[in-house]
Amino acid sequence: MTSTDQQPFLSVKDLQVHFSTEDGIVKAVDGLTFDLTKGQTLGIVGESGSGKSVTNLAILGLHDPYHTRIDGEILLDGQELLTASESELSRLRGKKMSMIFQDALASLSPYHTIGTQIGETYRKHTGASKKEARARSIEMLRRVGIPQPDLRVDDYPHQFSGGMRQRAMIAMALVCDPELLIADEPTTALDVTVQAQIMDLLKDLQQEFGTAIIFITHDLGVIADIADDVLVMYGGRCVEQGTKQEVLRTPQHPYTLGLLSSMPSLEGPVDVPLSPIPGAPPSLLNPPSGCRFHPRCAFTEKVAGGLCSTERPQLEVVDGRGSACHLPSGQRKEIFADFAVTRH
Ligand code: SF4
Repeated sequence: MTSTDQQPFLSVKDLQVHFSTEDGIVKAVDGLTFDLTKGQTLGIVGESGSGKSVTNLAILGLHDPYHTRIDGEILLDGQELLTASESELSRLRGKKMSMIFQDALASLSPYHTIGTQIGETYRKHTGASKKEARARSIEMLRRVGIPQPDLRVDDYPHQFSGGMRQRAMIAMALVCDPELLIADEPTTALDVTVQAQIMDLLKDLQQEFGTAIIFITHDLGVIADIADDVLVMYGGRCVEQGTKQEVLRTPQHPYTLGLLSSMPSLEGPVDVPLSPIPGAPPSLLNPPSGCRFHPRCAFTEKVAGGLCSTERPQLEVVDGRGSACHLPSGQRKEIFADFAVTRH
């Protein structure tokens, strides 16, 4: 998916990530395709277990190699990652691609100072001296808004607040100016003010470095703030994709519609009741046949021949816009029109 005519920096084609477990094969990602260009942010949205995080661990080569089977193609700046050696992936991680995790405390070592951890990443990829790495750590801490960075660089993670730790992780992820940044629910555990500061920081850094960002979240409000393009995942598959405006303003898939209906609208009347999607996300060990959303979908009766439970709807993408649903497009437009009337 691209918002411009530029060549994609990251290109994922028909990605399949399957885990073998004692109970059988878990199809965590089942045929995912998307592109991302430099300087753009792709928001990947979906409930827990939809395959969002697994997709990104596969891109970074951080999956368990003994129990995971990955098929498809992942091209980063023209280089195939799925056939790259571990040493090549390790060279690319940190320098060319980097990730910010949700839980900074769990991702930072409690035994080393913040400065050492940022500096080590820098040294590993640039061969800089300890002195240069320390100076770079201070510069990065300053850039992510840590006050008195020349003093705080010697603090341990437990001496930082939650928001500061998250900033330190961002500093570590960006210390080598990666061209691809994957942010996995990076602000979920933070209060709203810090959340807003971190989003602004990511936008500033993207402007400065032209970074391509994948932002994983279950929160459509965050998507509205930061994404250029959006990919909606359900049960390991992409069910809808398009620009942020297209997906949030004119959704074409009942699941996206459900996500939007379950969040408060900032623009509409305040008394519109929220309607959460009934049921629970599917088991990927034994996923529903046909459309994986069919056990929770309110529109299956509008599709002739019981196709929803028997046939997988294909994702048809034209100019980066597409959705996977058997509903005829005319009917989807009517459904969306009703949604728009209730919300605005
Ligand atoms: Fe609902 Fe059927 Fe469309 Fe799936 S294919 S989203 S079950 S209408």
